[in-house]
Amino acid sequence: MLFFLPLHVLLRLSTVPVATAAADSSLGSKAQSLAALTLPPQQPSFSTFSLELLLPPAYPVLATPINLPPPCESALPPSSSAECFASSMEALNVTFEDCGTPYTICRCGDAEMTMDTAIRRLGQVPVGLRRYVATVLALAEGTGEARAYTVESGDIHFFGECELDTWVHESTHAYDFANPNAWQSSAEGWAQAIDADTCVPDLYSQTNIIEDFAQLSVIMIYTLLHSGSLPPGFSAGCMQHQLNFMSALDAYVPGVLFGNNCNIIDNGPTARHTESPATLDPSRTFTTFPVPKQPSLSSLQDMPTGIINSGGGADTNGVIPASGGLGWTTIYCLGALIWLL
Ligand SMILES: [Zn+2]
Repeated sequence: MLFFLPLHVLLRLSTVPVATAAADSSLGSKAQSLAALTLPPQQPSFSTFSLELLLPPAYPVLATPINLPPPCESALPPSSSAECFASSMEALNVTFEDCGTPYTICRCGDAEMTMDTAIRRLGQVPVGLRRYVATVLALAEGTGEARAYTVESGDIHFFGECELDTWVHESTHAYDFANPNAWQSSAEGWAQAIDADTCVPDLYSQTNIIEDFAQLSVIMIYTLLHSGSLPPGFSAGCMQHQLNFMSALDAYVPGVLFGNNCNIIDNGPTARHTESPATLDPSRTFTTFPVPKQPSLSSLQDMPTGIINSGGGADTNGVIPASGGLGWTTIYCLGALIWLL
């Protein structure tokens, strides 16, 4: 049986007395173990930067209409977990230029995000994280703000026009959950890193160790793209241990993360998309953006330079704000988890 538990609900539960949460038999043990973090945020939000212009998309080479797969059928009435109430839902199998294993994207007929936008944003997620994503659902925003959540299967549900930072955040959850017996965010080293630090990136990172992991991933992606320089307004010092933990994970080796092939052999959890593309594009090479005047992450100074040059795309010119606070808007993910009971 499926139980949907939006994270804003989870957040409330994490702050109520333990006895109350434990009395809710619909919650799995993982939910009950989650607690809000007490470290202060370094910034209120990620409003000083955006990954949108930094990550060029892998281009779709094939898009084939398919019948709705089970994760998408479950989003339709009369399912008790219905999230799509339009008269139609379409599903495509999309093959990107850097991976031979297609991705399934379902779009509800009244979703604000077009199928083209969903394909582009999924293609912008670095292949080292994208390889863990299962089915993507684009749904109507409805009441509230744009939001998204990821389930343990790696399926991601987007409501409204979620920006690329949210896609990276959710794809990080898919990576985090890939080994059901050993979530990355459940690693002892991650808890120790948090304990050793004196801040988390932003307010949303305070939600729990899972959300802190996903938010730090967004920071890490930006930092790797800027030769170790953190986003405007952020510095490494108070969250150095968290950065060190993440930078030591195989998935965050820059040449892999930003590579041109989802067929990656490493010691990380088993990915969902692992077949080499039919044709590798050698022009997709790894280069960095100019380093803004920001504090550097010393442990990452010697990393290879890099971002993929996909050879096209006017929206991939790498221009970033010269200084912080220039009006980028980040739509937060209101994450959620599904427990199979
Ligand atoms: Zn999340």
